[in-house]
Amino acid sequence: MATTSFNKKTITLENGDPAPAPQVTPPPPVAPENTFAKKPKLATTKSRKKEIPEGLWTKCPKCSTMVFDKELDENAKVCTKCQHHFAITARERIHSLVETCSFEEMDAHMSSVDVLQFQGVASYKEKLDAYQTSTKLKDAVITGIGRIGDARVALGVMDFGFLGGSMGSVVGEKLTRLIETATDKELPVIIISTSGGARMYEGMFSLMQMAKTAAALAYLGKKKLPYVSVLTHPTTAGVMASYASLGDIIIAEPGAMIGFAGPRVIKDTTQAELPPGFQTAEFLLDHGLVDAIVHRKDMKAALYTYLDFLSEGRRTRTMAAA
Ligand SMILES: [Zn+2]
Repeated sequence: MATTSFNKKTITLENGDPAPAPQVTPPPPVAPENTFAKKPKLATTKSRKKEIPEGLWTKCPKCSTMVFDKELDENAKVCTKCQHHFAITARERIHSLVETCSFEEMDAHMSSVDVLQFQGVASYKEKLDAYQTSTKLKDAVITGIGRIGDARVALGVMDFGFLGGSMGSVVGEKLTRLIETATDKELPVIIISTSGGARMYEGMFSLMQMAKTAAALAYLGKKKLPYVSVLTHPTTAGVMASYASLGDIIIAEPGAMIGFAGPRVIKDTTQAELPPGFQTAEFLLDHGLVDAIVHRKDMKAALYTYLDFLSEGRRTRTMAAA
């Protein structure tokens, strides 16, 4: 028979061992047709899976609910079930706060110089290039003048997606220039912070930004111009120890982690048990560091109200002087 001779051929081709011959024999001539019949079935199930594109749902890290991405976007990136505030980019934040087309960005092209020639697993220069490509930002803050309702404001918004929102010379310089412009043009300042702290790749140059921004804010304060600081998850270290904690009013987003050193460092240093909810916005509201906790959806209205309240005395004074 033709089939047996065929089997013999394949066996000798494979390894020349005659022993497994009986096991190889079974596939009858019908076999090829069967495999063909099965293949299209597999293909259809695969295409059905492909119909659900990736990135359509996001799992909430707090309540584990799968939230529909479109729903999340419409809800200002806040979980519809438990109100967990997801991270948002600086551009998304600006879009959610200022009137359409009213934002004029300042120093958009300012970019860091690798002064220390920092070498790590990847050099600082390589890191900067990678983050500039992935975030389409030049550094971790966007500054500019925009309008909230009828109020013109100097707005600085940090982006955690750029090197953990770390403060290097560019973040410090852009914010200082923003504050100085506001002092000059007599505008209120709003800074929305999210940061892991000073940028270690710039060493002392990043630490110097703490004093520089704080000094600029002192001049703003001398002119009795309001500054509202908004703390979002997370705001820590060098940023928290400078401009983020210097607001005339300090507001925070619900559940935001706010602090200087991390809880483990504090626990090791103080050798004390930390209270529950330590370093959360809610804990700091109870202890007087934060003035209010504002839901992201109410942020624009709240900022408007606070600025109006803080500008009241100033308006009355200018009217009296005139
Ligand atoms: Zn949730």
